[in-house]
Amino acid sequence: EQTVDVVGAGLAGSECALQLADRGVRVRLHEQRPVHMSPAHHTDRFAELVCSNSLKSTKPETAAGVLKWELGAMGCRLLPLAQECSVPAGGALAVDRERFSDAVTNAVMSHPLIEVVREEVTRISEGPSVIAAGPLCSDALFEAISQAVGEGSMSFFDAAAPIVSAESIDRSIAFSQSRYEEGGAGDYLNCPMERDEYDAFVDALLSADRVISRDFEQKDLFCACQPIEEVARTGHDSIRFGALKPVGLTDPRTGRRPWAAVQLRAENAQRTAYNLVGFQTNLTWPEQRRVFRMIPGLAQAEFLRYGVMHRNSFVDSPHALDATFAIPGSHTRLAGQITGTEGYVEAIASGLLAALNTYAELSGLPYPALPQTGTLGSLVAYATNPATVGYQPMHVNFGLVPPLEDAPRRKDDRRRRMAERARTDMAAFVEERRDLFPGTGQGI
Ligand code: FAD
Repeated sequence: EQTVDVVGAGLAGSECALQLADRGVRVRLHEQRPVHMSPAHHTDRFAELVCSNSLKSTKPETAAGVLKWELGAMGCRLLPLAQECSVPAGGALAVDRERFSDAVTNAVMSHPLIEVVREEVTRISEGPSVIAAGPLCSDALFEAISQAVGEGSMSFFDAAAPIVSAESIDRSIAFSQSRYEEGGAGDYLNCPMERDEYDAFVDALLSADRVISRDFEQKDLFCACQPIEEVARTGHDSIRFGALKPVGLTDPRTGRRPWAAVQLRAENAQRTAYNLVGFQTNLTWPEQRRVFRMIPGLAQAEFLRYGVMHRNSFVDSPHALDATFAIPGSHTRLAGQITGTEGYVEAIASGLLAALNTYAELSGLPYPALPQTGTLGSLVAYATNPATVGYQPMHVNFGLVPPLEDAPRRKDDRRRRMAERARTDMAAFVEERRDLFPGTGQGI
């Protein structure tokens, strides 16, 4: 009887371990925390969310919504736990990060087939294994992976948003309103800015001191995670059309739409802490305090966590790994963000897929061929296709999905049809591969 070594009890590793164990496979799950901490994790709990607490849209016609459906159909373990720990967030799934982490930790620790080992893994095992060490994979292991895959690996930097305490927000200025019509009011707080306030804020942002600025500028940044000051640098109004867009908001004090608005999203069910949406930053901590306190409503803000700089390592999967994300010629697969699939839910999905591929290998079954019309299947196709050039971390999106044959003109209709096609094809796939999904498929 073989044991699979899973490295990293993050989102991908926890999902992978539970999926394998549910299929009767013994798992040794190695987690370096708390013995060796990453620069962004704060606890020794599993599936810790390092930045935002949002798992993105739940709307059925969005790519993120379809991905959640596909995961449900495949019997995902972490997604239902996230749903149990959700906090209100308009049309999105946001979680109380501590409750979520506790729920995942308990599920893993209580599984009779999973043994948890608290240690930093520094070598690649020779037996069947899944490395899900994340974008902050420890240096020694990343070096070992780089050696195994050759020059296909690379690393770059990323940035995370600050969090302020709810009681320090001035509620006579910041108002509770959801930008999205379908969202329940109160999921977000908005800090409205008049034109002169916005101008002064942008000037301060641009002239503020940054951490390791030169080094950072030279790095290849994933555009969805650009620091706010870098976005501001591209034009005086850039952030007003991005993170600070006032669309759909009415300031109750003036009855008008503000010139710009900073959105704050609740961090937990009790709404005791809020993060500054889109404010990943590279400013020094004293400068964050000075500049972000210029935001109306945040003059007295207490920063529970400052935005910080982080390494974000990933492997050039299309060229360094095979179609099952295995290091060629080995029994080791990679999963999660380290393969360059970007996002919390994508990491969970990647962990589930790594479990299916490993289970197929151990059981002598054909590898799963996910439908490419689906959000996960199309992301996997992109990430494993050697024809992919300039590989960059990617969220699921409809741009990766093959076009419809008789595509409707209207974008909304196209999206709806693509979502329907994805659900139909995933349902058929799960039905066809019952050998890989014993007793699952609840989403159908
Ligand atoms: P992780 O969840 O990081 O799990 C990896 C685990 O492996 C960790 O527990 C780590 O301690 C452990 N580990 C590492 N090395 C070793 C070793 N050698 N031995 C044993 N254990 C090891 N995505 C979003 O959707 N929204 C966001 O807001 C967001 N913000 C991010 C902010 C930052 C700073 C970073 C770096 C990434 C962010 N991401 C975000 C991207 C990505 O979705 C997350 O990083 C996600 O947690 C990736 O899941 P994972 O399972 O691949 O890695």
